[in-house]
Amino acid sequence: MPEQADILVVGGGPAGLHAAFYAAWRGLRVLLLEARPELGGQAQALYPDKAVYDVPGLPRQNASALIGALVAQLAGLPVEVRTGTVARTLRPAGKGWQVEAEDGRLFSAGSVILAAGLGALRPREARVPGAEAHPDVRTELPEPASLAGRPVLVVGGVPQATRAALELAQAGARVTLTHRRAGFRGRLSELEALDQAQQRGQLQVLAPATLDRLSAEGAALTVDGAAHQVPAETVLLLGGYLPDLGPVLDWPLDWDGEYVPDGPGGQTALPGVFVAGDVARSGGDFKLISVAFAQAAVAANHAVHHVRPDLKVRPGHSSEKRL
Ligand SMILES: Cc1cc2nc3c(=O)[nH]c(=O)nc-3n(C[C@H](O)[C@H](O)[C@H](O)COP(=O)(O)OP(=O)(O)OC[C@H]3O[C@@H](n4cnc5c(N)ncnc54)[C@H](O)[C@@H]3O)c2cc1C
Repeated sequence: MPEQADILVVGGGPAGLHAAFYAAWRGLRVLLLEARPELGGQAQALYPDKAVYDVPGLPRQNASALIGALVAQLAGLPVEVRTGTVARTLRPAGKGWQVEAEDGRLFSAGSVILAAGLGALRPREARVPGAEAHPDVRTELPEPASLAGRPVLVVGGVPQATRAALELAQAGARVTLTHRRAGFRGRLSELEALDQAQQRGQLQVLAPATLDRLSAEGAALTVDGAAHQVPAETVLLLGGYLPDLGPVLDWPLDWDGEYVPDGPGGQTALPGVFVAGDVARSGGDFKLISVAFAQAAVAANHAVHHVRPDLKVRPGHSSEKRL
């Protein structure tokens, strides 16, 4: 049986999160599908450590904190989130639509808002010699407590690698963090915590280093010209993310390259299917969070009216509502 909602949002970046907020704020049940294990789109995957200066009303906001605030805004609203879920097939179903995920799960709703941004953010493939011989190579951080007590090798200089090393060490894993360059990315507080954890001997950092080979027992690295053997029951290869629009490109939306043409209200060629954010043609090359927010608000309210014609398109002012 498909999971059902009034409105299905595909994509958990700024556009999808704000669309989910607006539709749920209007009282409709929302299901939000996100390919990654965490919400936040490009901001959380690609630049969580960076400051953003051009979101209205927020002179300087850390990208990850901005996503945290968008997620906090969903609290108490009827929004169900399914992370790790890649939407693939769109079919008409009754008066609405059914979406099948890559893993075969089904979701149906009266209206769909496509907020896929540049595409599903997939872990960048890292080709490490011997990786096939190692029993536990991963590209996303699992629940840190599940690796407590185990030797874990974290490979990468992206913010996710820094955060993974810290969270795993805190959970009691025996962590080695390595990267081909000397520096790591992350929020200042995380980089300070990394230094402190290293000084206290809570984790080991080997960088710059070359990861020569993985084997069933662990990894062979070269550091300063010297060979190192690092035991690793789990290896986390965190090399960043690449967007993949492939899963939704065969939705019959008259695609214009990487864009879906949209009319007033974010309406696409399919009745009840709306679009918002970077993937919407109307934004042109203005791939900006502020533009995504505006498109999401408009698309969500049109989707609400599509599903519930008794509700007006215009939402009224939130400041007039008594909560
Ligand atoms: C390095 C960098 C810095 C930036 N700095 C700024 C800045 O300072 N200010 C600014 O305004 N903008 C900035 N941007 C642009 C901004 O991040 C985007 O405009 C914004 O993220 C668009 O939001 P979105 O929700 O449309 O798409 P995205 O953020 O791309 O989110 C889309 C989400 O949908 C998911 N998804 C896609 N396909 C599927 C599928 N089939 N099934 C399930 N989930 C799917 C993806 O995994 C992703 O999480 C920056 C971008 C980059 C790369």
